[in-house]
Amino acid sequence: MNKKVQSNSDETPYKWFWRALDDYLVKNSLKQTKQRKVIVQEFLAMNPHVDAEQLFERLRKMGYYFGLATVYRTLNLLKDANLVDQLAFSDGRSVFEVNTPDSHHDHLICTHCRKVVEFENEEIEKLQLKVAQHYGFSLESHRLDLFGRCPDCMPV
Ligand SMILES: [Zn+2]
Ligand SMILES: [Zn+2]
Repeated sequence: MNKKVQSNSDETPYKWFWRALDDYLVKNSLKQTKQRKVIVQEFLAMNPHVDAEQLFERLRKMGYYFGLATVYRTLNLLKDANLVDQLAFSDGRSVFEVNTPDSHHDHLICTHCRKVVEFENEEIEKLQLKVAQHYGFSLESHRLDLFGRCPDCMPV
């Protein structure tokens, strides 16, 4: 019998991520720079739901004076590589999270404090599949973000 490859080893949980990023950079004739490596490393340490400005602040505190635009550029590159998802808030801000293959969750987003709660609901998943089928679509992926107030931000 063939042994199955375990992808979720505790020691290097993001090995697959770095490998996929390397592939993407090679394919697009881009170099892995020291700067990019540091930003990605700290982004992964903060995952999930990373605010670019908080990542920028974290790097600054560590003594890395990259511009905010550089941080955004790196996150957008990860997005182009389909390695991260971007969750947009209604006020124009957004957070980024690792797009883990074969794993899926949806989000509840507080419009007041920007808290993000992850959830999985079998019924919603099935319903979405049904809707897609009804319109003759074969579903590849979906995003469901529910906006509202979290319990902490409920008016008293
Ligand atoms: Zn809240
Ligand atoms: Zn999430």
